[in-house]
Amino acid sequence: MAEKIGVCPTCGLPLDICTCKVIQREAKKIKVYLTTRKFGKPVTIVDGVDDKSVKSVLKSLKQKLACGGSYKDGKIELQGSHVQKTKEILVKLGFDKEMLEEG
Ligand SMILES: [Zn+2]
Repeated sequence: MAEKIGVCPTCGLPLDICTCKVIQREAKKIKVYLTTRKFGKPVTIVDGVDDKSVKSVLKSLKQKLACGGSYKDGKIELQGSHVQKTKEILVKLGFDKEMLEEG
């Protein structure tokens, strides 16, 4: 019988060559970037926060940045230009610095 220990349950490859964990890590990246809306208004986008925590994250960001914000299409939109501060706040909220990426 084949030895099953050391095989990834997701892809079935031996764990030393499996890349599922790496892919998962990549997928977890959170992008924080600036874009513009109607009439050239700047908005800060936070893309990639998981559904479970997105509401509390949005609330904290709005409070700490004292700006308006909303959540739609899986992205947090904050009124104004706050990329750097948003990142700092996300780190304080417990997000890994390495997860944050400039889009
Ligand atoms: Zn795998």
